[in-house]
Amino acid sequence: MGLSASAQLVWAIKQMKRLKAASSTPGLLLSLRGWVYAAAVALAVSGCPRRDTVEPTVDIDSPPETWVRVLLFGNLSEYAVSTPAGFTVEALAGGVTADFSETGSVHIRLQDGRIYVGRHRIGPAVVLRPKEPYYFELEEMGFRGHLYLHVNAGNDGIQAVNHVPLESYLLGVVGAEMYSYWEPEALKAQAVAARTYSLAIGHRFGRGRHWDMTRTQANQVYKGLEAENSRIRQAVLDTAGQLLIAPGRDGREVIFPTYYSSSCGGHTENSRRVFGPDWVNLPGVRCSWCEQTARRGDFYWGPQAYSMAEVSQRLMRRYASLASLERIEAIEIRQTGYEQRITQVGLTGVNGRQDHVRGEDFRLTLDPTGRRLRSTLVELSQTNETVRFTDGRGFGHGVGLCQYGAQGLARDGRTWAEVLAFYYPQARLVRIETAMVE
Ligand SMILES: [Zn+2]
Repeated sequence: MGLSASAQLVWAIKQMKRLKAASSTPGLLLSLRGWVYAAAVALAVSGCPRRDTVEPTVDIDSPPETWVRVLLFGNLSEYAVSTPAGFTVEALAGGVTADFSETGSVHIRLQDGRIYVGRHRIGPAVVLRPKEPYYFELEEMGFRGHLYLHVNAGNDGIQAVNHVPLESYLLGVVGAEMYSYWEPEALKAQAVAARTYSLAIGHRFGRGRHWDMTRTQANQVYKGLEAENSRIRQAVLDTAGQLLIAPGRDGREVIFPTYYSSSCGGHTENSRRVFGPDWVNLPGVRCSWCEQTARRGDFYWGPQAYSMAEVSQRLMRRYASLASLERIEAIEIRQTGYEQRITQVGLTGVNGRQDHVRGEDFRLTLDPTGRRLRSTLVELSQTNETVRFTDGRGFGHGVGLCQYGAQGLARDGRTWAEVLAFYYPQARLVRIETAMVE
């Protein structure tokens, strides 16, 4: 990519008063007492001309507390960005603002620790704000909201972070996490789980860094505009502002990480057995719905096999603390949860020393994609130099809402609130004011 000819810009630099740098921490919601945190912004969009098939982002003016920050790319040194109607650029440290009123692709690159937008040197931290309909395309993917760019600590790349109103964000999540042709009640349950999860994770991990979540299954999958359609939009709209809260350690109700996974394999798992101590303990519940709903090949999996040498190598590489074992020679199941789900794996080194890892960490270290080893609800055996996984069931960690199960329950006539009550029995629904206005 060269400097694109598209830099037909209207360029206006002026001195800006010091800008308040990125301060949209959704965690604020959590620190507020009570759940009637009102931040309603009714942004009427009457008479907006429609561009292409994308609806304008209607809640663009909602308060920062109801936005989320999603890491789009962690370490690229150049990007191509385009918008349907231009954008403004500001240096977060102040000093520079610019108006790109033409459409077309603009080249962004890193040079000498500074971000260049088109020909113009802006600074080490930059925000691009698209004009109405308030979305941008980055590396050929469309996203609503704003684009924040931060030079990495190592000065060798640019983090691209999407600041997006919560409800607009969910449009890009629900359609990526579930099939949009699924039952409306299942889609709505998914929307509430994803909304709650976003705020809980942002609050817990977002401090001290520029983003709350990734856009991958490490958190929840976010595909931006590509995932949106009218059914997804309706599910988000019908549940706008709805969240789950549950008693935390001190008994006070908090927004908690509403974990969910594709299919629990017959029984959801206690969250502490999978992820360790957490502020809200999610119980496991028996779920016959996913087996009935998922295709056989999506429910049952295996067999799979790994050589013991590979198992040892992968674990040692991932966990420096295992170095004292020198090489792992034997593995065994140490702890199990419901239906014998493997929750802890014991490791023995050639020197006889022992250690252990969580079942889910063991699985994802061996298979970071999670597609070959689909769950820890599986038989594990070691013979000579081979580790075998047989009779696997389910897909994912199995904690919280079971997506295929939710679809089964919805098909059976349950409402989205009933689906959520089934998988998060200790939680209750509350509504906050966000800004999804049609
Ligand atoms: Zn299930």
